[in-house]
Amino acid sequence: MQLNTYHQDLNLPEGASIADIKAAFRQMAKSYHPDAAGRTSADVEKFIKAQTAYQQLMKTAAAHNRARRATVAPAPPASSPAANWRFVSSREVGLDIYYRLYILKPEAAGAGCQVTLPWQAREACPRCLGQGRTLARLGQNSIYRPATCPRCQGQGTITRESRLEVSLTPEMVGRDKIRLRRAGLYHPSTAQRGDLILEPTWVSQLPRQN
Ligand SMILES: [Zn+2]
Repeated sequence: MQLNTYHQDLNLPEGASIADIKAAFRQMAKSYHPDAAGRTSADVEKFIKAQTAYQQLMKTAAAHNRARRATVAPAPPASSPAANWRFVSSREVGLDIYYRLYILKPEAAGAGCQVTLPWQAREACPRCLGQGRTLARLGQNSIYRPATCPRCQGQGTITRESRLEVSLTPEMVGRDKIRLRRAGLYHPSTAQRGDLILEPTWVSQLPRQN
């Protein structure tokens, strides 16, 4: 199986955790990244192998997670989620995103409430792994030179239009802030992720939409 070789390329035993894989790749990048001076072609080859292995293992892990989420996810509520709440505005403070919402209090207090927010998932670019630089092949040879990543244009991040589903439990009703840890923006070079903070106004009737 190919996964085995990927682990070997990162000097890891099979079944290593995602944290181990990330740490191992960081270590390899530190030792062999072609941007640093004095690298031999053997170093560059090691780096490319490690990068490929890292990308493939992350892809496999993501697929596992998706499959697990798909089986664990609760059934969507019978009523339209949009009927229980209304979007007011959003703002970003550092890596945190704030959403102001109206939420119908009786609805939420009774059976809970499902809120689906428009969400821009900003993630580390899978092509350059957040570095903004990648290797471009020169002609037919196995000579590579560092270049601006074509996938993210050197930003290190990509943005995916997405939706975030939040289940409000009855205990959350009435709170003026609901903080969802690590659901905010992503910063590739520090690998930090901000929070998403809901600021609901609890109402017994939703204001008319203009
Ligand atoms: Zn990139």
